[in-house]
Amino acid sequence: CGIVGYLGHRPALDVVLQGLRRLEYRGYDSAGIALLNGSDSLAVERSAGALSNLEERLAASEREHFAGSGGMGHTRWATHGAPNDRNAHPHRDHSGRVAVVHNGIIENFAALRAELEADGVELSSDTDSEIVAHLIARAYEAGETAGDLPATLGRIADRLTGAFTLVVTHAAEPERIVAARRSSPLVVGVGEGETFLASDVAAFIEHTRDAVELGQDQVVTITREGYRVTDFAGAEVETKPFTVDWDL
Ligand code: GLU
Repeated sequence: CGIVGYLGHRPALDVVLQGLRRLEYRGYDSAGIALLNGSDSLAVERSAGALSNLEERLAASEREHFAGSGGMGHTRWATHGAPNDRNAHPHRDHSGRVAVVHNGIIENFAALRAELEADGVELSSDTDSEIVAHLIARAYEAGETAGDLPATLGRIADRLTGAFTLVVTHAAEPERIVAARRSSPLVVGVGEGETFLASDVAAFIEHTRDAVELGQDQVVTITREGYRVTDFAGAEVETKPFTVDWDL
C-alpha cells in the first residue's frame, strides 16, 4: 500500500519510518523495513499491525544492526495472504541478500510460483509478491542480466502481469536501490546528497520538493547523487521532473 526508499547521508531507519508515518493515512495492516547495513545480508524487521508494533520490535533489537544510510519500508494492505508477520513485506530470497517490497497485485504469480517450485525453491509466504525476490536473486546470479541489478529488475518486471510498484535492495549493491512500476505509482525525490523513492510524495516532501514521476513500465536506479530511468529493456527514457507545491 505504501512504499518508501532512501539512499543518503542520514540514518535510513529514521527517514524510512518517518516516511511510512506520512503514508499511514492510506491505511494498512502490516509494516516492515529492510536496511543496507554494510554487512553481507540485509537488516529486516516486519510486523503485522500498526507501525508502532514494528517500532517496538526495532527498539528491542540492537540499533547497530539497523544502522546504515540506505533502505526501504512498506505498509501492506493485504490482497493475497492473511495480514500476519510472515506475509508482511519486505520479502527475501533464501540468501537474505535480496529484499523486495511490492504495492499492487501480480496476476500471474501462480504460474511463476509453480516455475520456482519446480526448480526447488520453497516459498515462505502466501503473497503474490515473494516470487519477485527469488526471481531477482536468480537472474542476478546467472544469465543474461547477471551482476546488473537494474537490468535484472527490468527483465523480471517484464515477466509480471497486473499492477505493481516494486523496490528492490541487494546486499551486494549498497550504493544503489532500484525500483519499477506498472499501473501503480512511483515517484523519486531528489535532495542534496540524498535520493528518495515513494509511492506518494507525502513520504518525502519534508526533505525535498524536487520530484520525478516515473512513467508506465519504467525502471529507476537511485544513488546518493541522483537517479537514472530506463524502460524495462534498459533503454534510457525522458523523465518528468516537477516541483511539489503543496504542504502537508
Ligand atoms: N499484493 C501484495 C500483498 O498482498 C501487496 C499488497 C499492497 O499493495 O500492500 O502482499
